[in-house]
Parts: sequence; C-alpha cells; structure tokens
Amino acid sequence: MDSKVCSICGKTLNVGPAPDPGEVFSGWQDVTLMDGNMVCSDCTEKVRILYPLRSSKTFVESGFRFGYDEVRGKTIARKGWVNALVDPLEKLTLEEFVKAQSDAQQAAQDAAVRFPGAKAAAEADFTYRHHVVAAGTNHKTLFSDKKEYVACVKVLFGEIRPGDVVSISHKDREYTAKVEEVWFWNYLGTAERAIDKAFAGTTAGLWFHQDVPFIYPGDILVVKES
Ligand SMILES: [Zn+2]
Repeated sequence: MDSKVCSICGKTLNVGPAPDPGEVFSGWQDVTLMDGNMVCSDCTEKVRILYPLRSSKTFVESGFRFGYDEVRGKTIARKGWVNALVDPLEKLTLEEFVKAQSDAQQAAQDAAVRFPGAKAAAEADFTYRHHVVAAGTNHKTLFSDKKEYVACVKVLFGEIRPGDVVSISHKDREYTAKVEEVWFWNYLGTAERAIDKAFAGTTAGLWFHQDVPFIYPGDILVVKES
C-alpha cells in the first residue's frame, strides 16, 4: 500500500479523493503536481506569492452534444456562469516546483525591500459594507446598523492575521484600522470563508468593525513591524 508523503518536506499526507478546488474555496489543500508527486499545503504556501490561485469564469451552455448539466459541482440549467478556482501548481513538475521555491524566496525578499519596516503589505481592490438584515416588511427592508466593512485585498508580502492593524498613507495623513477577521476572497465573487491568515499571493477580505472610507482601490495596506 502506498503511503503518500510530501515530495518536498517528507511529511505524511492524508490522501483522500483528489480535491477539486471547484467553485468554493474549502481551505488550502495538498497539491498533486503534473508528474504525480504530491506537495503539502505548508510547502505550497511559500510559493503562492508567484503562483496564486486563479479564478476562472466560464459561460457554459448545456446542449445535446454536451448533455451534462453539472459542472464543478454547480448545476447548470441549460446555461450559466461557472466560476472555478484553478491551481497553477498542478501544471508544474517536481523539478519546476523546486525552482519555484527559490524564485518565490527571491520574490519575497524583493517585496521586503519595497516595504521597509513592514511585516506585511497588501493592495486594496474594493471595500463594501456588510449589511445584516435585521427586520423588515414587504415594503421596506431594515438593515442593522452594525458596522461591518470588508476590504478586499491581494497580499503582496508577509501574512495578515486577525488582530493586525493596517496603516494606509495618504498625502495628508496616515490612517489605521484593526483587522477583526480574515476571509478567503475568490476575486470574482464575495469573501467566502474565514481563514486564520492571508499570506503573500492570497486574495482576502479583511473585516473591520469601523468604517474605512480611506481605503481606495490600489491603496497599499501595511502591517508595521512592532
Ligand atoms: Zn511539505
């Protein structure tokens, strides 16, 4: 019987049915490379700075020739959008993965030089307010006044965790906000699921319990070294 180990660090892997990233992110998985070698999620984490998961949106039409109506776990009634996560690491051989490791190390060092004094940095995409429906009638929906704002970002460098304080500099002043939660964000949809940290290469939703009107698309959010 084959017991699978990580081809990089030698850790024993729990081998289940081949995980399909599918539409919804269900946590970081061990990856089977192109040549069948497996790499654990701890080892793949370090190369995500260069090989982030990609979101792919495809319009699917079901017809007589292609009569399936279920694509990546989503049932398609005749036609519809399928939003899948694609892992570029599955296209690498072990040799290429080893090369990716040193490239990623270099990329992380380059990023550290770009953001002196920072423990982590992320680029903002957009921010939205998360409204919770509190009550309502057929005529009027009422929302709670809970202050929950989500900034969707891509982490460029380091790791961002709940409790971290991010700084955003504009020409007049510096603003700060405390990250309450970190969620995985598939950038074609909304933030999907709480994760314990977002590391370089991850697209993530950062939750704040305060309004963050000072975060604009393209802004750099920095977690400073304490
Ligand atoms: Zn490993």
